Formats: sequence, structure tokens, C-alpha cells
Amino acid sequence: MARKKALITGVSGQDGAYLAKFLLEKNYQVFGGERQNANRDFWRLKKLQLTNEIKIIPFEMLEENNINKVIREEKFFEIYNLAAQSFVDKSFTSPVYTSNVNSLGVIRLLEAIRYFSKKTKLYQASSSEMFGTTKLKLQDEKTYFQPVSPYAISKLHSHWMINLYREAYKLYCCSGILFNHDSPLRGKEFVAQKIVSDLAQVKFNMKSCLQVGNIYVRRDWGYAADYVEAMWKMLQQKKPDDYVISSGKNYNIKTFINKVAKYYGFNILWKGKGMNEVAIDKQTNKIIVKINESFFRKSEVDRTFGNSKKAKKTLAWSPKTNIDDLVKIMCESELANYI
Ligand code: GDP
Repeated sequence: MARKKALITGVSGQDGAYLAKFLLEKNYQVFGGERQNANRDFWRLKKLQLTNEIKIIPFEMLEENNINKVIREEKFFEIYNLAAQSFVDKSFTSPVYTSNVNSLGVIRLLEAIRYFSKKTKLYQASSSEMFGTTKLKLQDEKTYFQPVSPYAISKLHSHWMINLYREAYKLYCCSGILFNHDSPLRGKEFVAQKIVSDLAQVKFNMKSCLQVGNIYVRRDWGYAADYVEAMWKMLQQKKPDDYVISSGKNYNIKTFINKVAKYYGFNILWKGKGMNEVAIDKQTNKIIVKINESFFRKSEVDRTFGNSKKAKKTLAWSPKTNIDDLVKIMCESELANYI
């Protein structure tokens, strides 16, 4: 039997790499879409030893003609749209670019599918950032959105487009509203990996301390390798729909720091308040964590807390990795760089 063809846009990112691995294990023929000016260092694919297994093709979310041509020629069975300008912070300095890729790019993709490959199933990476400052404590598919960054607004735009194309044109398209998910393949722009990486440098005397912003925001954190399975499961249902994918637990950044510090063998004591709060390593009496105002956000999502009951019931999906396991996976992988 011919292998099913799947396209992953944004294949060089964290989720792209884990998803590629997952689909290859399911015997898909995996195509990886890459943007024109991407730095072609596929370190994540290399780390998972996938570089020879994936066909990398140029796929530019800003180029309608390129998208149309690829969709028309390849007639993919499934497309996973993970390509995005995905840094919340950067979206404040590049709001137009962020919307062009994250919002208009998705319309380009939907139009190409509608005209040239109507049977292709599409997964769209929505984000828990869309909930923003919503007042509801536990967020599910019916929770109202209150986005507070250009990134979140751009993702919400494409979220509604997916809904529209599903209803109006009967396309098979789904949005996965994924809460934060991290792994050793995460970039240091995200706080979890920054903590894991910087505290390792402190441990090996390569850095004096970790500097972070607001440590009292809470995040619902999961493991990326668990979450890509949910993406695939969404596309295997009779009817397309949207799903929240989350761990159902949340912790503040300070707790994450404590867990990583403990894993690395630090015994830390927090002292002071506000901008003067610091964590001291009791063994050496040195400050190893400081607060730095420049890492505070212009507008902040104080807490994310997802309810993925629908995914559990319909997709038979639930997370396999809890926060302690995630910390262990990330720290172990980081320490391997120092051996
Ligand atoms: P996000 O939830 O998608 O924005 O993922 P991040 O990992 O970038 O940020 C999670 C939270 O950590 C946000 O609320 C940030 O304000 C907070 N945070 C605190 N210090 C830092 C830092 O140094 N870097 C980053 N990226 N976030 C930080």
C-alpha cells in the first residue's frame, strides 16, 4: 500500500521534529516545509536522527504561488500547519510580520486546499495564548477568548478561519489549542528551557546566575512529545473539530526553577521581594537567580490552566508526562551536553 503523504510546515521547530518522528513511526511519507530564509540547520531533526527520512521542500507562508503549487502537485493526505512566528515577545516588535505568517498564511493555505486538494485534512496549531486574560479559571473549547498579544490575536484569527472553512466549505480542518509544551528541543527563548540551560551553566561555573522576569505567572506545562500524538489523533476522527490539549495542572515559574535547581543538586533559599527577590545557593552562599525587569512582558497572561476532557473522551488522549518527569527529561538531556 502506498504510504500516506503528510506535510509538516515548520518542521524544524520543536513540535515539527517530534511530529515527524511520530508520523514516520506510523509509516507516513513525511514532507517538511521550510521557509525561504530559514537557517537550514535542522539541529532538532538531527538530534532525533530524522534528517534522511524527511523530504524537505520550500514552503513559504507568505507566498501564495508557492503554497498553491505544492498543494496542487502533492495532494497531501494530511497537513500539519506548525509554521508560525511563535514568540510572544517578538510579536510586539513585529506585529505585521506575525499576522502575515500566522493569520494570512493560514488563509493562503486554506484557499489552496479548497481549490486544489479538497480532501486534504488540515491541522492548525492554535494556542492557549488566545485565552489571554479570560476570567474563567479552567479553560476549555467553549471558553471566551481575551487575547493580549499580537501573537495571540494572530492565532485567534486563524482559529476562526479554520472554523469558517469547516462550516462554509466542508473542509476537514481542526485546531488544536495547545497549552505550553516543552522538551529538550525547545529554544531558549522560552522560559522553561532558559531555566534548564542557564542553571546548568551556573552549576558548571559558566554563568554567575539565571536572570528571569515575572516568576509568579502560572503555566500549564506538558511534554511536546505527548502533545504531537493529539495532533495526529484529531485528524483520525470522523468529524473535524477543535480540541484543548493541556496537562490540567499549573505551576508558577518559581516552582519550575525550584524543581530544576533541586535536580541539579542546588539547595536554594529565596530572599527579598519584588525586583529584589533572589535565590541563594545555600552551599556556596552565592546568588544564583535574580529578577531582571527587562524580561517582564508588556502585557501578561497571569495563568494558563487547560481542561482537556473533550480530548480525553473523544480522542482517548491524555498526557503521559507530569511536570517532574518533564523537568527530569529536560535536565538529563541538558547535562548530557556537559559530559
Ligand atoms: P509563553 O507562555 O508562550 O509566552 O511561553 P514562555 O516560556 O516564553 O513564557 C512563559 C511565562 O514565563 C511568561 O508569562 C513570561 O512572562 C514568563 N517569564 C518570566 N521570565 C521569563 C524569561 O526570562 N523568559 C521568558 N521567555 N519568559 C519569562
